[in-house]
Amino acid sequence: MEKGPLQRLQEIAAEIADLHSAAALLAWDEQVYMPKAGAPARAQQAATLRRLAHEKLTDPQVGELLEQLAAEHRGDPATDAVAAMLRVMNRKYHQATRVPAALVAAEAKAASAAYHAWLQAREEKNFGPFREPLAEVVKIQVEKAEALGYEDARYDALLDLYEPEMRTAEVAAVFARLKDFLVPMLGRLSEVLDRVDDGILYQEFDEDRQWALTLEACRAIGFDFDRGRQDRSVHPFTTACDMDDVRITTRINRGFLGSGLFASLHEAGHGLYEQGIDPAFRRSPLGSPISLGIHESQSRLYENLVGRSRAFWQFFMPKAAAAFPARLEGVTAEDMYRAVNKVAPSLIRVEADEVTYPLHIMVRFELEQALIQGDLTVDDLPGAFDDAMEAYLGLRPANSVEGVLQDIHWSGGYFGYFPTYTLGTLMSVQIFEAARRDLPHLAADMASGRFIPLREWLREHIHRHGSRFMPQELLQRATGSRLDPQPFINYVEEKYSELYGL
Ligand code: ZN
Repeated sequence: MEKGPLQRLQEIAAEIADLHSAAALLAWDEQVYMPKAGAPARAQQAATLRRLAHEKLTDPQVGELLEQLAAEHRGDPATDAVAAMLRVMNRKYHQATRVPAALVAAEAKAASAAYHAWLQAREEKNFGPFREPLAEVVKIQVEKAEALGYEDARYDALLDLYEPEMRTAEVAAVFARLKDFLVPMLGRLSEVLDRVDDGILYQEFDEDRQWALTLEACRAIGFDFDRGRQDRSVHPFTTACDMDDVRITTRINRGFLGSGLFASLHEAGHGLYEQGIDPAFRRSPLGSPISLGIHESQSRLYENLVGRSRAFWQFFMPKAAAAFPARLEGVTAEDMYRAVNKVAPSLIRVEADEVTYPLHIMVRFELEQALIQGDLTVDDLPGAFDDAMEAYLGLRPANSVEGVLQDIHWSGGYFGYFPTYTLGTLMSVQIFEAARRDLPHLAADMASGRFIPLREWLREHIHRHGSRFMPQELLQRATGSRLDPQPFINYVEEKYSELYGL
């Protein structure tokens, strides 16, 4: 019997998924085990896989099949998995075909040049060498946004690549509310920062014992090591070759207990999402997480709402003390709860606490949006960065490495990516609150090491759906509301007022 259009499209999508999975494994290996000398060969292998996947996706046949199937399948994606699959495939097809091949090539070339210039600029602590290459990257991103198309703001086109259907205006409105709360909150906290001491975390902690402790924490929250593994890398990350093959990484810092443990909880949160996707979506466009924001909501949930909770430390403190009897002798769960929640405004985004982290993101969102809209030039960027840091965090970078050269994202052309970190954080609180409404014993369960009810709730409401629903649709179904900063505001206000005796 001849294959129908749906089956033909599904077969193409499955092969594209296979190519992406193979590329993911090569990228994982590059950061975890590959000898340095393997880099040039690996870059070629990755480029070939990327090109093959792109060719398969942009084949005119895919466009024809999508058109044909759209006429036959007018179902509601919420109730019809085929309609949901077509929606995702349509988005990917249009994103891939709207950007001309020459622009894709120029983008990769500009990103590579800018990355090396960024490294050099950091070395010299001087923005100079990065200026021209970054201007080229911005120019190409503007062209890309124009090619992709948008209704209101040019930045929308880029934001949509990472957070489908999210709009610049909505992010700006949410961030404005957050700023009105966080800046004064930080002002109040700044008077009393020394009321919380985190000295116990900064001692010498044996690396092997830390490693074992990170595994214990991941296992406790329900990460399945028969369907995943943890390794070490310089920058922690998560990648999935399949829902049954999920790789997380962490880094261990001998002088700081928080580094490895919270990186592991964060990445295991990402990993649980990947492991929880419905196996029926394997090798299908629905078989991946729907957005970076939703992905980050899961990692932040486990890192902060679980890992930085009193209940978690009531359970985990005896385990930490058993691993480090000499270092943590006499340290109570309450001492540890306070230590892991110390607020410390700093210039470095990746070291920021729950209160100050969103402020770092707002600075970047404001600036990158202005660059893409044409309201700010690359020449004026370093000064604008320092001014914004001072306005949001009350700190002024002493040099460009602490300032505008801090993050890798812009060198790679990742404009529209930063906001997803904070969107994820806001959604993590909304989702955790919804879980708590359904699981009245959640805190008591966590305090006694029972984390499976939470994982199962997340699996049911978030994980298993993969890309079936658009992000805000998924959030609405899981929590009863779309993106709303108020639960995060309430959470920070209550938690930190109590911790700091405000
Ligand atoms: Zn993350």
